[in-house]
Amino acid sequence: MNECPRCGWPQSDVYEVISRHLTSEGVVTYTRCACGAVQIRVQAFETGRVVTTGRLPGAS
Ligand SMILES: [Zn+2]
Repeated sequence: MNECPRCGWPQSDVYEVISRHLTSEGVVTYTRCACGAVQIRVQAFETGRVVTTGRLPGAS
């Protein structure tokens, strides 16, 4: 679903950010559409998380 079900506004284009806060799951953003519908977006941390790959010290 990439558009507002009420007015068809593309959700990739944020009309207004109401509030944004951090949770253990990621960044939760409350946005308001041009038609007034409130949407909740959750952006997980995964994309910004540093994942260590490669050899572990002591492993052979
Ligand atoms: Zn809308």
